Amino acid sequence: MKKQDIKNLTPDELKKEIVALGEKPYRASQILTWIYGKRVFSFDRMKNIPGSLKDKLKERYLLGGLTLLDSPESKDGTLKFLFELEDGRRIESVLIPSGGRSTLCLSAQVGCKFACNFCASGIRGFVRNLETCEILNQIVFVENNVNNKATNYVFMGMGEPLDNYENVIKAIRIMNSPECMNIGSRRITLSTCGIVTGIERLKDENLKINLSLSIHAANDPLRSSLMPVNKKYPLPELLIACGNFLSGGGRMLTLEYVIIGGINDSLKDADEFSKIARSLKAKVNLIPYSPVSSLKYKAPSGESVRAFMDELNRKRVTATLRASKGKDINAGCGQLVLRNAEKMI
Ligand code: SAH
Repeated sequence: MKKQDIKNLTPDELKKEIVALGEKPYRASQILTWIYGKRVFSFDRMKNIPGSLKDKLKERYLLGGLTLLDSPESKDGTLKFLFELEDGRRIESVLIPSGGRSTLCLSAQVGCKFACNFCASGIRGFVRNLETCEILNQIVFVENNVNNKATNYVFMGMGEPLDNYENVIKAIRIMNSPECMNIGSRRITLSTCGIVTGIERLKDENLKINLSLSIHAANDPLRSSLMPVNKKYPLPELLIACGNFLSGGGRMLTLEYVIIGGINDSLKDADEFSKIARSLKAKVNLIPYSPVSSLKYKAPSGESVRAFMDELNRKRVTATLRASKGKDINAGCGQLVLRNAEKMI
């Protein structure tokens, strides 16, 4: 029997397992306190757990970790963490401090299937989904490393979170659980390239996390030319799914729009986009494109970014401009992976 990581279990699953092992359910809470409260990754160090239970756990489960290979710091304070997984694959997480907040950007997959033309993550294709424990380990290992907890958690690293649906949702439930990480839903954001079926499923999970849609274009021909996923899930369908997600209540939708020089940065693009943003009452994040060396796309001029933003404001859409941070360490949006690509795949 292949041992699995005990962090793949939700509190309910762990309780069931503990009972099945002939022990009292409160032992599950004690184990969770060791793992997520004290962040102890060794059954032997769980002092209040009887030896017989430790033995049973060790026979069936492991408490795996991540190996930190590198953690370069950008001039702007952004920290990138390059981790090696148990199978030698590599992933990255990014911690972005800003004012009193610090946002931890999590990867959901090794590689990505969706191949947005402008993004580095898709260049080498897809390798595998991360397990729930590998998603949670990014939080534990980054936070242990900086000796502080992040204030916000975003699934905006490598991969498409809605394409690794079960493992990501399970990780979010464990992040949320007061017995585990106790991170409020409003501090968690899932970003998607627009998987309609995933957005619909997410609506029914009653998780109340924030959704961010990487929209990047306001009409189907342009969006399909940048993001092949749009051919499968075109804008009209996608926007209906986002509207339905919002009507579930208590959630926030952000539209992420990467402004790419000469591609989607005209006033006409801004006008078209303003209609979508207004109809969904969405918050807008504009991100100037960070060029990727092997790709043809260019950063927008400062002028066109300002004009785009002014046009949105004129159309009564509030937009914030998010500088892509950590560029000097290749930790900018969509830049993850490339520098260490050989080992990623
Ligand atoms: N697959 C999810 C999660 C990735 S989030 C999603 O698409 O939302 C990473 C974000 O960075 C996405 O909005 C992506 O479109 C954007 N991005 C990718 N490459 C970029 C680049 N070179 N410059 C700026 N943003 C980029």
